[in-house]
Amino acid sequence: MKKVIIRKNEEIENWRRNINSDINFIPTMGNLHNGHTKLISTAKKDNSNVNLVSIFINPLQFDNKSDLENYPKTIDNDIKIAFSHGADAIFIPSNEDIYPPNNKNIKFLKASIELSSALCGLNRIGHFDGVCTVIYRLLNLVKPKNLYLGEKDWQQLVILKNLVITKKLNIAIKSIPTQRDFDGIPLSSRNVHLSKNERELVRLFSNHLLLAKKKFKQEKKINIKEIIKKLSAEKISIEYLEHLHPYTLKNTEDEDNISILAGAIRCGETRLIDHVFLMKRSPIIAIDGPAGSGKSTVTKLIAKKLKLLYLDTGAMYRALSWLLIKENIDYKKEQELNNILKDISIIFKSNANAHQDVFINNYCVTEEIRSQEISAIVSKISSLKEVRKFLVEEQRKIGESGGLVAEGRDIGTTVFPDAELKIFLTASIDERAKRRKSDKQSKDSQDIDLKTLKELIKKRDFEDSNREISPLKKANDAIEILSDGYSINAIVDKIIYLYNEKIPKEIQSQ
Ligand code: C5P
Repeated sequence: MKKVIIRKNEEIENWRRNINSDINFIPTMGNLHNGHTKLISTAKKDNSNVNLVSIFINPLQFDNKSDLENYPKTIDNDIKIAFSHGADAIFIPSNEDIYPPNNKNIKFLKASIELSSALCGLNRIGHFDGVCTVIYRLLNLVKPKNLYLGEKDWQQLVILKNLVITKKLNIAIKSIPTQRDFDGIPLSSRNVHLSKNERELVRLFSNHLLLAKKKFKQEKKINIKEIIKKLSAEKISIEYLEHLHPYTLKNTEDEDNISILAGAIRCGETRLIDHVFLMKRSPIIAIDGPAGSGKSTVTKLIAKKLKLLYLDTGAMYRALSWLLIKENIDYKKEQELNNILKDISIIFKSNANAHQDVFINNYCVTEEIRSQEISAIVSKISSLKEVRKFLVEEQRKIGESGGLVAEGRDIGTTVFPDAELKIFLTASIDERAKRRKSDKQSKDSQDIDLKTLKELIKKRDFEDSNREISPLKKANDAIEILSDGYSINAIVDKIIYLYNEKIPKEIQSQ
């Protein structure tokens, strides 16, 4: 495809009509650095859309005239950099193109008051209104499918996500983690203004934040006053340093697993921002749903794509049922059951085919637990109080430091009620029986006709949904996905999309 530079609104409309492809849009204010190039190359790798980079210094978002005048302008170099990192087209509009005088159709927007009154909004009056106005204007001209933004300007990202929702735009916002320089400071076009001494102060500031993040991981708490004291002792002029919920930008609650520590400092004439995400544990995805809803296939693929641990809790109930049968345990007798539970170890190990094997007390039971004999008994065994207590504890131990996607019946309600993303995956009984029948791994359904299989699944659903302790049910905050008529890949993509909406990329890449 011929690379083009577009300067006029009319040209962009013509170009859009001719490209015959969806657009990834990367808006910038120029003076491109490695943060921008990472956005452009990420968009290129993400899909086969056309990449459009815009370079426009938006006067509306500068609250200070000299900041606007001094903002670095390096357009010729920017063009070379953008093209060499994957831009297919560059849009360089003039002020008149973006804000045509006397055009009553141009809307000057107000950013969400709640989101823009925190952090930078307190001192940069009108800044986020200017950001929303220009981005909305650019989105209307470019009409992209995806909008790529850096997490470096986290508050801006949250405000623009809100804009896309309130304006009901059919655009996905994709982000990349803050890109840092060799000394740990976030890449920013304004860094060129820093003297050597000032840069040292920024380095100290960023490193204090990075240190706070490390400390938080161990101690699960933070002392902001102490950090401010340390920064002040280094003669760093702090505009703000706040510990907030990452999406509401309100004070964080004790139960929040992920929070943000964000600050702004002044170095001479330059104002710089930085933040880190604080995490008590890595994120967890909970996928619950009835038998045959596609949970296993979907969960395995998600684990692979997001590089998370995969936890099949159903396999644990099945393995335990297998052992109770094998050892001839009368599981209705509490004492007998408790005795055996004391000495049980269930572990998962990756096998040569990159699948997981399940071991109970060193027996590899991967294949045997899928038999009809086990499927017929597992719901009864899994309804026992002692069994649930034991396995839920085991599952929590596995998920203690997070970083996993777990599937089952009570993950979102009982095992990990604080999971960041909860999915309730379901499908009609006809669809589920058909899937089970065609799934070669479901050994319990190969020799059974469809009608009987349907009845068996219904029976298991009934037992799982009506037992006394943690029955199968949708958690209040779970998102229900009815998978009838959707391909596995479409469901996986949807769940990954929801995960990306909830978890900053920065956290995902740690
Ligand atoms: O998912 P799978 O069909 O392998 O699960 C087998 C059985 O294990 C379920 O029907 C249910 O009785 C039990 N189970 C449970 N809680 C979970 C996972 C599975 O009770 N979290």
